[in-house]
Amino acid sequence: MEYIITNIKLLYGENLELMKDHAVWVKDGSIEKVAATQEIPADLPVVDGNGDYLIPGLIDLHVHMMWDGSLNPVSTSETEGYEQMLLRAASNCRHYLLHGITTVRDIGSIDDIAIHISKAIKRGLIQGPDVVASGKTLTMTGGHDPFWARFVDGPEEALKGVREQIFKGAEVIKVSSTGGVYGRTEGEEVGNAELSMEEQRVICNEAHKFGLKVASHAIGREGLYNSILAGVDTIEHGHFLDDELIALMEERNVAWIPTLFVYKQIATQEGIPQYAKEKAVEIVSIHRNAFRSYFDNNLLIGAGSDAGSPCTPHHALWNELYTMHEIVPDTKNILKTATVNAGKILGRKVGQIREGYQANLLLTKENPLTNLKHLEGLRQVIVRGKIIPLQTPAGQVLGV
Ligand SMILES: [Zn+2]
Repeated sequence: MEYIITNIKLLYGENLELMKDHAVWVKDGSIEKVAATQEIPADLPVVDGNGDYLIPGLIDLHVHMMWDGSLNPVSTSETEGYEQMLLRAASNCRHYLLHGITTVRDIGSIDDIAIHISKAIKRGLIQGPDVVASGKTLTMTGGHDPFWARFVDGPEEALKGVREQIFKGAEVIKVSSTGGVYGRTEGEEVGNAELSMEEQRVICNEAHKFGLKVASHAIGREGLYNSILAGVDTIEHGHFLDDELIALMEERNVAWIPTLFVYKQIATQEGIPQYAKEKAVEIVSIHRNAFRSYFDNNLLIGAGSDAGSPCTPHHALWNELYTMHEIVPDTKNILKTATVNAGKILGRKVGQIREGYQANLLLTKENPLTNLKHLEGLRQVIVRGKIIPLQTPAGQVLGV
């Protein structure tokens, strides 16, 4: 399949540079060429962009596709059973596409649902974004997120645990290195370190041997330190990051996925379970201060929404970007967290409009660099070169 998108303004390459009078040649799911319109072969089918903005498809680096984003998703999943959870995950994948999210990294689902969904999308059985799925979260016995955990204690079990996930088809490994806010209802504290540095080091070495990255749920300082020195690739949340830890992350190319929006929701929304709300209230301002302090540092920051978590819908990537913008003014660098940076963090050719990159593209009516809310004026979604035949919230169906 081959076509040209013309009559567009586009945000090119890793600097999201605004280009006019250019066209994009899409071939076999990838971007074959970006060039001045007259330099592109005239005999290919044409998609008329109607003067809209062509931007890279969005990437959400932290989702839980089988959760429902209600006040208490754990209680929903406890009552509804596997089949309903699986169907919800499939339905949420269409929801991601409808909102311009063309890649998601799912790092926590019961019974490996996200791995099954990822396989079904690859096989063309259902429509959805590219899914990079972890298997079970590797957690100490009794640790954070027991509902989708593989409990491991000691280096030998850690090794066995990571190999099991790789065998099942995980494309990223998730570990819990501290307690969390919304996890066990009793006895879990964000300051408590969980998996040891030694256990995490075994996991990281083995995952890296097979080309997989490791994402660490880490809030308190001791657990953050353990994860960074053990060799993880991304810190999820990272409320208690400080100057010393940030310097270590920069030195070791560890990226940060702050997930700001979900903690704001848990701290402020009525009806959230009290045990979680109390913990979130305590750490939200610490989190925001860390983000303000380190946003301009020399480390990659990627956007992750924690979609599916309490009061966090599956298009909350938008809200994550808006929340960043409440704290820092730089719209371009914020949009990069969900595009350019996120692609680099995944180590995949996504998140940029550039030759050789996957053709995951959006048309928006106005320029999101002037106002991030323009992401909501979505007119068309293209994933792996395929024009999704759907009526987008603000859009119209375009055809080749
Ligand atoms: Zn999460």
